[in-house]
Amino acid sequence: MPKVKVDAERCKQCMLCVEFCPRGVLKVSDETNSRGFYPVEMDDESKCTGCGVCGLVCPSVCIEVYR
Ligand code: SF4
Ligand code: SF4
Repeated sequence: MPKVKVDAERCKQCMLCVEFCPRGVLKVSDETNSRGFYPVEMDDESKCTGCGVCGLVCPSVCIEVYR
């Protein structure tokens, strides 16, 4: 199963990854990071295909996708 790792401290909650994920499996966390942003996290890992789109669109380069 693919793994998506988000560096929560570097996420600036721009929501691009959430918008572009073709499976809609990313969501905003309930807790802020140290900069006051709500970082993105995986909502339903079982639906992730490991396509890598989230990592490609992230302007902060804080998403790593392991296939
Ligand atoms: S790898 Fe693809 S399916 Fe998985 S969270 Fe990222 S964009 Fe969505
Ligand atoms: S694209 Fe990157 S910076 Fe933007 S919400 Fe997603 S993880 Fe955070």
